[in-house]
Amino acid sequence: EQDEAKVVDNVEKRLFIDGQWVEASDGGTFDVVDPSTGGKLCAVADATPADGRAALDAAVAAQAAFAATSPRARADMLTGAFELLHERIDELALLMTLEMGKPLAEARGEITYAAEFFRHFAGEAVRIDGGYQTAPAGGARFLVARQPVGPCLLITPWNFPMAMGTRKLGPAIAAGCTSVIKPAHQTPLSMLALMGILDEAGVPAGVVNCVTAMDAGGVMEPLIRSGQARKLSFTGSTKVGRILLEQCAEKVLRTSLELGGNAPFIVFEDADLDEAVTGAIAAKMRNMGEACTAANRIYVHASVLDEFGRRLAERMGAMTVGRGTTEGVQVGPLIDEAGLGKVRSLVADAVDRGATVLTGGSVAEGNGYFYPPTVLTGVPRDARMADQEIFGPVAPLTPFTDEAEVVAAANDTEYGLVSYVFTNDLRRALRVAEALETGMVGLNQGVVSNPAAPFGGIKQSGLGREGGSVGIDEFLETKYIGITLQ
Ligand code: ADP
Repeated sequence: EQDEAKVVDNVEKRLFIDGQWVEASDGGTFDVVDPSTGGKLCAVADATPADGRAALDAAVAAQAAFAATSPRARADMLTGAFELLHERIDELALLMTLEMGKPLAEARGEITYAAEFFRHFAGEAVRIDGGYQTAPAGGARFLVARQPVGPCLLITPWNFPMAMGTRKLGPAIAAGCTSVIKPAHQTPLSMLALMGILDEAGVPAGVVNCVTAMDAGGVMEPLIRSGQARKLSFTGSTKVGRILLEQCAEKVLRTSLELGGNAPFIVFEDADLDEAVTGAIAAKMRNMGEACTAANRIYVHASVLDEFGRRLAERMGAMTVGRGTTEGVQVGPLIDEAGLGKVRSLVADAVDRGATVLTGGSVAEGNGYFYPPTVLTGVPRDARMADQEIFGPVAPLTPFTDEAEVVAAANDTEYGLVSYVFTNDLRRALRVAEALETGMVGLNQGVVSNPAAPFGGIKQSGLGREGGSVGIDEFLETKYIGITLQ
């Protein structure tokens, strides 16, 4: 408990603007809550629209000089930050668990994952290339150069408080873009800690700026509409993504969106069932199910449904639920009362429509927003949870008998982020992977996130990709220079 108080005490709780820590201009603050108790952890500065403008002014002022830094200098900043994240992993993981709830082991995993984006983009920074081409008719030459897009607005969600920040800041810094980042109000502390690390790693004043705010729209909309920023990168709900895309239209901002998912997880009759159960637990239970990549609809071939359900329920039912800081806990609380309420009502709806509870399904008394690992079977296609992100530890099983039928069911959603397929038949695996309308497919694996791979969705799950070698493209413009030789 002493450690807990200390890490919360040690983190900055002010805005980070132009290399300085400053209070909100009206002195306002909002509370950060520990979701495992519902109690207040601390208060952080609540930015006003004027603070937002000051942050963007700083990013705009720093842009030209930062664009002129050497790629190697920018790579070194990212490498320095990568090392500091590893040096401080214990404090950072504890801080994340306190504000977000995930078990300490998962918080450590996220810091490692987050740091990996910096290592990956340190490599990309020095490999930004261009082109030189002779025009088809001869004479003229085409030179193709890549330049930073310019000042960026970055908005991140609460479920991966650190990694969703580094996934945007890594390529932005590598490309030579300055930015204003706004973390979710539920989890500002990890991002504030990250600002301190970037500062220590030598990122110049004004290059990264952080505004924490309760009224996200009130602070960010004027910045988007100002035309001073050249790009928006957002990770969050499809609902908010649509609003932001509309706001970006006014000044035609470059836009990257990582939005919601409704991942199908398909288990064919020839799959290795143990592997499929392990994959389902990874795809469902990582982050308590609070991930846009979470398996949201689990389709199991009717001939193996009972056996799969029995094994999954046994393993999920045996998971230890509790405060993320407690040794051995595997499942922490959900983020807040609203998140818990949504999961409860989706489960009640599925049961009303005929689903059977194999394990979990009811909330214990007590503080904190805990929901037990739950497996439902016979979930009908018209259950509300088939259409929206559950964002909780609930695995809904639905039987199928035919490949074409299950592919059609899997694609029957506005979302298209990720899907998972378990089968030992190579041809079927590739046929189904090609037919699924998602930006990513996990083949016999329940996790797809990797900083070196292009992460992103199609349909209403988003625009653009983060990570991989294309991740930096989102922060670069292409300039063509034509010259005619005599
Ligand atoms: P979630 O449902 O996971 O909280 P949101 O899409 O509501 O997802 O939030 C993701 C991020 O977007 C958070 O940082 C949140 O503060 C921010 N946000 C929410 N509404 C707006 C808005 N109207 N304009 C800008 N940012 C917003």
